[in-house]
Order: sequence, then C-alpha cells, then structure tokens
Amino acid sequence: MSCLYSSADIPIPYRIVALRQEQNRLFAYPLDRLVISIWATRFRCVCCGACCTRAVNMHIFLLDRDVAEVKKIDPGAYEPAPGPEFCDQNGMLYVSGYALRMRDDQHGSCWFLEEGRCRIYDRRFSGCRVYPHLLRRGADPKGKITWLKFARKYEHGQYDPAQPLEECLELAREVREYENALLTQQISFLETIHEYFTVHSLRHDPKMHKDRLNEFRQGRPVEIKVFHEGELEECRVAGTPV
Ligand code: SF4
Ligand code: SF4
Repeated sequence: MSCLYSSADIPIPYRIVALRQEQNRLFAYPLDRLVISIWATRFRCVCCGACCTRAVNMHIFLLDRDVAEVKKIDPGAYEPAPGPEFCDQNGMLYVSGYALRMRDDQHGSCWFLEEGRCRIYDRRFSGCRVYPHLLRRGADPKGKITWLKFARKYEHGQYDPAQPLEECLELAREVREYENALLTQQISFLETIHEYFTVHSLRHDPKMHKDRLNEFRQGRPVEIKVFHEGELEECRVAGTPV
C-alpha cells in the first residue's frame, strides 16, 4: 500500500510530467481488462490481518480524505508517512502525506489491528479497501516494467467462485479511482514543494537529507513538513532506534 513514486534526484518538473503521463496511461487502460483480471482471481479476504503489519506492508499511506476520517475515529492513529523525499539546506524534511501509525510490537501492527482483526473494518481506509488489487506499472520479478495488478499472489486469502461479476466491476472502478487519487496527491505535493522551495529560496540537500534520516533512525527527533490538503503541516517526530 505504500506510495511507489519517489526520486528526489530527478528535477521536480520532469517528475510531474512523468506522473501526469502515468495518469493518462491509467485512464487508457481498458476497465474491462481489469475487471477480467479481478474476476480471474475472485479473491476473498479471510481477514487474517497479515497485510495490516509492517512485516508485510512497509506502511499504509493515507489519502487526504482518509486523514479526515482517521481524525474522527482516533486522532492518535496517524503519523507522517515514513521515507520523507526531500530535505532542505536547513534540515527540514518533507513528505507527501500521512500514514497509519504502526505499533512497536513483533510484526509492527496497524494501530487498529486487535487480536489479528481490524477493529474499524467497515470504516477502513482507501488503501485497505482495494488491497490486494492495484493497477500501476512497476517491475515484475524479472525486472520488466509491466502493469502490476495483484499483491502477493497465491500467498493469502481464498478463491471465491461465487463472487459476482458486478462486485468485480465495482472493485475495478474503486481500484482505478484509488490509483488516480494517489497520483493526484503526489503531483500536488510536488507542485507545492516546487513553489515553496522557489518562494523561500530553498533547495533539496542530499547530504542533509541523509544526515537527518540517520538521526531519525537513531531515535532523535526531526522536524518534518507533511503535505495535507494543499498545505505543509509542520510536525516533530522521533524515530525508534534500530
Ligand atoms: S485500518 Fe484496518 S484494514 Fe487498514 S491496515 Fe489497519 S487494521 Fe488493516
Ligand atoms: S487482504 Fe490478504 S493478507 Fe490482508 S487480511 Fe485479507 S487475506 Fe489477510
């Protein structure tokens, strides 16, 4: 469920263009082909809770609309998404959004996972709802760029021969909408960073970036601006020493 689009080394305008091209490809992808793919899998979640842990998914990214929902349920259940992409010359980190807080237990369980079950299942968030389905391009096990459509095939859940085609169609629409929302949030983040850095004479500093992330991994507090609803919200977070 993590956000795959990041590389602070590439100039931001190029990255924005590339993400817009991904959006065009997403909408050019025939929906019926995705429906057939979902239908072929006829995946049914057995609520084992494995995907709700850091052990399986590094983090569960929240779209802006999810953050609004999680604030209503439990304001302590979210935090800046890990892996901030940018760091300015003054040491301020920048990340494209929030993620669900994970506990420091054996598997790194989601804040809402209790005894292996999601305690807010009917209100779970966008990424949780579509998982393990996805529609994005990435490298297959042989390194070939292709459309990835299912996470951890044959490793979880069960085949449900009675799954109606209408449900697969609904899910396909939801998957495409989610992927588009993810791309849209990432584009907005990059546009905001580009403008903010220009206006405030800031630049991405790779050395400072590395130093700050090292400090964070050692458990020291760092300052981070989190992109949310078009703004950069400032937070202070401390990592868990590794
Ligand atoms: S909110 Fe629920 S479904 Fe989503 S990751 Fe957490 S426990 Fe899993
Ligand atoms: S999506 Fe898969 S891993 Fe996640 S709870 Fe359902 S069966 Fe388990």
